[in-house]
This record gives sequence, structure tokens and C-alpha cells, in this order.
Amino acid sequence: MRVVVIGAGGLGGPIAIAAAASGAEVTVVDADVVELSNLHRQVQFGMADLGRAKATALAARIGGRGVVARFEAGNAAELTVDADVVVDGSDDPETKFLVADQARALGRPYVIAAALRHGGNVFAGAPGRACYRCLFEAPPDDAATCGDSGVLGPLVGWVGGVAARRALALGGGDLDPAGSIWVLDDLRRGGPREVRLERRRGCVCEGP
Ligand SMILES: [Zn+2]
Repeated sequence: MRVVVIGAGGLGGPIAIAAAASGAEVTVVDADVVELSNLHRQVQFGMADLGRAKATALAARIGGRGVVARFEAGNAAELTVDADVVVDGSDDPETKFLVADQARALGRPYVIAAALRHGGNVFAGAPGRACYRCLFEAPPDDAATCGDSGVLGPLVGWVGGVAARRALALGGGDLDPAGSIWVLDDLRRGGPREVRLERRRGCVCEGP
């Protein structure tokens, strides 16, 4: 199974490690370098990795392929064309929508993971099911990021683990999670819930 992980940070790390440990061929895409402030929640990196490209360092750790680049419209098709499943673990709403749109265009299953402050969510999509835009429609203008608002360190391991499990199911042909979102609103106030989504009338995924 070929898994492409967008983002090699707090979510991309656990996602890529879990996918590789299960035997998947993993490609990691990230343009950033490892900084000291990353280490408390990006446990895939150590002091020796400071200044290295995250994609390179994470790929070396898991025996995968690292692509030091920002995932954008110009390279999205090339980076995902061989993927059995595409997983977003980035910290950027525009990237999440691009990953979802690209996977939908290719007819591939995909997983979009997000974590912020004390909560997170994991969306799973596949052809014919409710898509990311059925739920979120378009990127928000003022989305908070972990860089601005912070995220509880251990949370990303949990959310990343859920994302990896869903990605491996979808990539292996089990489409049961597709069209649903796993949501942890605030881990101080209760456990996660799962919401199965209907397709939204008028959404881009309805097609011509
Ligand atoms: Zn849709």
C-alpha cells in the first residue's frame, strides 16, 4: 500500500510512523525544517535533527521517501498520482482543502487530520461519499493554527493515530470510515464522537 502523508510535523509524524510500521510505502511531503520549539510535540525528531528538513528526517526514521516541498496546486497531481490513500497532517486549511480536492479529482480515498488546543478531528473521504467540502465548504479566512493558538502535545499522537488507522483501512479497500468525521471537541470534557455525513446538495463532489 502506498500512503502519501502531507506534513511531517505533530500529526504527520505519528501518521507516517504508524503507516510505515504496518508495512506501507510512505512518502512524506513537507517544506519546513526542524526547530527547537517543535520537539515537545513532534516526538519523531530529536536534537540531532535541528535544522534538517522535516520530510528528510522523518523519511529516514521510517525508511520512507521524503519530498522537501510545499504541497501546492503545481505539484499536487504529481505527488499523489500513485497513492492508494492520501493523508493530510498539515497545519494549514488551504493545504487541507487542496489535499481533499486533489484526492477527489484522482478518485482516491483520503484522510484530513487536524488538532488544535485541546481537541481535534479526522475526516475520512472516498469517491461517492460525503466529501470534505460537503462539511466545511471552503477554507475559513481566519483559521487559528497551532503556531498561533498552541496544541496540547500528547493530543497530536492520539489524533494522528486515529488518522493512520483510518488511512490504512481506506488504503486497504475498507471504505467503511469514508464520509465520516471523528471529533474530539475537548479532551478535558469528554471522549470523541463520530459523525456520519450526508452528501451536501450542490457540493462540488456532485459533479456534472
Ligand atoms: Zn461534497
